[in-house]
Amino acid sequence: MEDKKVIHIISHTHWDREWYLPYEKHHVLLTKLMDRLLETLESNPDFKSFHLDGQTIILDDYLQIYPDTREKLQTFVKEERLHIGPWYILQDEFLTSSEANIRNLQYGMKDAARWGGVAKIGYFPDSFGNIGQAPQILSQAGINNAVFGRGVKPTGFNNAVSEAENFESPYSEMLWRSPDGSSVLGILFANWYCNGNEVPTNEIQAQKYWDHHIASLEKYAATPHMLMLNGCDHQPIQTDLPEAIRTAEKLYPNIEFVHSNFNDYVDKLAATRPENLKVIDGELRSQQTDGWGTLVNTASARVYIKQMNQLNQALLEKVAEPLSVFAYLQGEDYQHHLIEYAWKTLMQNHPHDSICGCSVDEVHREMVTRFEKSKHVAEMIIDESLESISEKISTAIFEKWGDDALPFTVYNTTGWNRTGVVSITLDIRRDYFATGVNKQELKEFPLGERTLVDDTGTEYQYKAEDLGIFFDYDLPEEKFRQPYMARRIRLTFEAKKVPALGYKTYAWVSAAKHKDPSSLIVNENEMENKFVNVKINENGSLTVTDKANRRTFEELCVYEDTGDIGNEYMYKQPNNEKALTTKDLIAKVNIIEDTPFQAAYEIVHEWEIPKSAADILEKEQKELVWFTGRTSERTEETVPFVIKTVVTLEKNSKGINVKTSYNNQAKDHRLRALFPTDIQTDVHYADSIFEIAKRANEPSQEWANPDHSQHQQAFVDVRNDIEGLTIANLGLNEYEIIRDGRNTIAVTLLRSVGELGDWGYFATPEAQCLGEHSVSFRIYPHEGKADTTKAYQDAYQYQVPWSLKQTGLHDGELLPVHSFLQWESSNLAFSSMKVSEQSGDVMVRWFNMADESDTLIVKSSAPFHDAYISNVIEGKGKSLHADGNEGVQVPVRKYEIVTVGFEK
Ligand SMILES: [Zn+2]
Repeated sequence: MEDKKVIHIISHTHWDREWYLPYEKHHVLLTKLMDRLLETLESNPDFKSFHLDGQTIILDDYLQIYPDTREKLQTFVKEERLHIGPWYILQDEFLTSSEANIRNLQYGMKDAARWGGVAKIGYFPDSFGNIGQAPQILSQAGINNAVFGRGVKPTGFNNAVSEAENFESPYSEMLWRSPDGSSVLGILFANWYCNGNEVPTNEIQAQKYWDHHIASLEKYAATPHMLMLNGCDHQPIQTDLPEAIRTAEKLYPNIEFVHSNFNDYVDKLAATRPENLKVIDGELRSQQTDGWGTLVNTASARVYIKQMNQLNQALLEKVAEPLSVFAYLQGEDYQHHLIEYAWKTLMQNHPHDSICGCSVDEVHREMVTRFEKSKHVAEMIIDESLESISEKISTAIFEKWGDDALPFTVYNTTGWNRTGVVSITLDIRRDYFATGVNKQELKEFPLGERTLVDDTGTEYQYKAEDLGIFFDYDLPEEKFRQPYMARRIRLTFEAKKVPALGYKTYAWVSAAKHKDPSSLIVNENEMENKFVNVKINENGSLTVTDKANRRTFEELCVYEDTGDIGNEYMYKQPNNEKALTTKDLIAKVNIIEDTPFQAAYEIVHEWEIPKSAADILEKEQKELVWFTGRTSERTEETVPFVIKTVVTLEKNSKGINVKTSYNNQAKDHRLRALFPTDIQTDVHYADSIFEIAKRANEPSQEWANPDHSQHQQAFVDVRNDIEGLTIANLGLNEYEIIRDGRNTIAVTLLRSVGELGDWGYFATPEAQCLGEHSVSFRIYPHEGKADTTKAYQDAYQYQVPWSLKQTGLHDGELLPVHSFLQWESSNLAFSSMKVSEQSGDVMVRWFNMADESDTLIVKSSAPFHDAYISNVIEGKGKSLHADGNEGVQVPVRKYEIVTVGFEK
């Protein structure tokens, strides 16, 4: 006998905190929804429960206006009538960093626990695709399921059903598996998350409603348990749902209707699911569709937002946190509250409608302020940590150069030893207001003959710039502010092999400077170091030769400009348009830097591009002509577009830095940098969340969109066994592998569009991104498969700013060169180092980039007592015993995310 069918009706609302309205307007509406919800839960015991959209921040948002409701909310959470968490916000998974995805879960679960309980549901209702490592992250957090609205072959509303085609999964239930082998029960909202919206109470209407809905539900359900979501985007509560359920019960006596919640539904589903659920592997990016509904071009909407996000994330997770750990190991407090505040402020920019750049202009203006706020807190934490550690480093070794030696420390907070050009400003004399300022003396203060040395006395070539006299101040903790005037200089030099998660100390000292006449410039418009040769061609493109395998890449960094008549979500080139490129322009080329440790050229393209799309575009937008059906072309009228490209080669780095600047005065277009690889391969690799995702160059058969753009984090790599080209970037999240027979990597630098898109017409003039822009990327040729760990390490280091701090001549318990944590492996990437608030232990995270198991060896000079295997929510697992001098050894599965806890 067949089991009785059960329809689980879950009340919810999907709350985009900001989107087609600015934050505060949605916020006001939220308070009305919450008022009504509390009133309903209080007055109607039959209204069983409400799912608060998987994000705890909604409670904070409500309390901002109604702080007195805290107790009431808490009671409903404890009684399981309000289901909250596990996330802090509903992030875009691809456009936020690996660590940001984890912090979102950590802070969300922490807050939910404080409220009284967390709904252990891997909730991704509206994500624009899902990351491949989500099942592993959720499993480590004790969550055995994931519910999502997009990514696998769509099987219902909002995503047209086509009977003729094969679905990726015949059911809305499946097993979703990460590349390491972890899997969770995956549930696709086959009929979208509004499929149980506005259930009628009236019998006649209800009959019609249910006949239709039951048929849709049965189409995809693998078990008798079926899911109806009573709610939609910003949907007010259906307060008479209990009555509507009673009507349904009367009409369909053979079906059980439950006002349910996700925990119960998932439990029932897990208990009754068939054995043969299909296994779906890795990333869910709607690749088995026609490609017009993936929303992937949100990766290039408002690039400036992505750049700010990259910098903020790097400052918090790759600089402020590790530096705070260094200070913590020297006895300072770890500033959990401040760090949490900075993260939460940053994460308020991470919801899918925010970081994706697909909201109205006011939203993105407010985001800029949030980025600044988060950055300012991070900078304060960084400064304080640097101050505290630098004071404890012994610099006495430099006294032998005289008491006018000016020591400073270069910090490397990446997970690998690091070499690169750095700059520091040094105050060579300070006159405090309290003791009297002599500006004339400051100005004339003799620099003398000086040189730059490290702790071993090794001399470094450097460039010094006299910055003159400067006003500045100290803010002592126990005294009033101390203003001063200083004579300031800037030193630029190449720091070599600064230890991973550590530092190296240098000093500018009085001594004869050894002159080095060498240069990296070897010919006209040509520079070279021991790794690569870079030639600048007449059209401004680069010819780069990898000296290790003598492989030459031609025509790198040609710019391409096309029209874009799409919207913030999707790119659409006008029909029959041919792309413009800088291939046939003559560029101006100038040397702008020539020192023994670094050379740089500036390349200027004076280009003209169409001013905008023709006027008909605005008409088509206003008349809601869907972007795929628009007929607009670009105007004949052009505007000047001057691109300045600075290409820099450092003496001891293989990567070539490129910084491109322009003042954009054109609308409705997309600018990309092109890198033909001429490498024959069917796949490529893109940095994603704890994963180097292997993706096919060719889209699926049903893909109809001529554009095949994809998401990236730090880099994209095209390679075979013997040669490869990695293009790393700072906050440029979109690339395409062009199907031109050359496997050209195209990186989107700018996308200018005038409307939001989606369900109506919302003008977004600021999404045209007019004005000054500057973008950065790095070209790294390599020797193919065996060389990728090095190439990817270089790309990850490129993301992280150096930290430098001037200090005085003093004794200290720390050596002049030091690493706080040393580790080794074949294929692991370092991800983060922080302190757990619960345990006070130092948590360090890596992930395995390769499809083979590995061993992590950690040798620490820090005063750790014991180490253990932890997880993404900082739980305590198996103890790890240090093996004498060998350090702690940890076996790591392929693609595993591994967190180790160290007890202080
Ligand atoms: Zn949404």
